[in-house]
Amino acid sequence: MKGKLIDQSYDKSFTPGFDGKVLSAIGDSGAVYTPAFKDWMLRTQDYRCGYCGDFLGSDWRNNKHVSVEHIKNRRLGGSDMPPNIMFSCVYCNSQKNYKHYLRLKIAIQMRRFGITGVISQMQALKLMLKGVLTFDLLSSFHFEDMNWPHVQKNEESYYDEGEETKIIREMLEKEARTLRAKSQEVN
Ligand SMILES: [Zn+2]
Repeated sequence: MKGKLIDQSYDKSFTPGFDGKVLSAIGDSGAVYTPAFKDWMLRTQDYRCGYCGDFLGSDWRNNKHVSVEHIKNRRLGGSDMPPNIMFSCVYCNSQKNYKHYLRLKIAIQMRRFGITGVISQMQALKLMLKGVLTFDLLSSFHFEDMNWPHVQKNEESYYDEGEETKIIREMLEKEARTLRAKSQEVN
């Protein structure tokens, strides 16, 4: 018999207003999502990328700008089902890849500055720490500001604490302390 039975089970409270099938297939290149689920998800996200907040277009069909994103990568054991799934733009998806999403904060800022591909993320971070670039690494990801039911905001579920992640987290914390100190000087 062709096609294995797909486990469609998940907590339906993550997708209010949608109780159809989420998956239509699981192929070699990953999960395939049903048009109905994608319609629901794009509408729920107000047509915006979950990371950078850029407009994705009013339809996912024939749309090269939009991609289904596993918040915690499949390679790291992330699920194919809500609440580990959201739409992102292809830039955020490819720049995050299998890495921790904290790295995207740098990638998004680099995109805003127009220096993606011009210097590396590490070079950008060094320039930031020297005060040459003023990256706003403390700004939140779009989904963190939204109350999307299909994206769980529990940090623990996203974080893989690899060495790179630790460095970035330490940098973010340091940056936060510096900014806090500066704002206290002003006041
Ligand atoms: Zn994006």
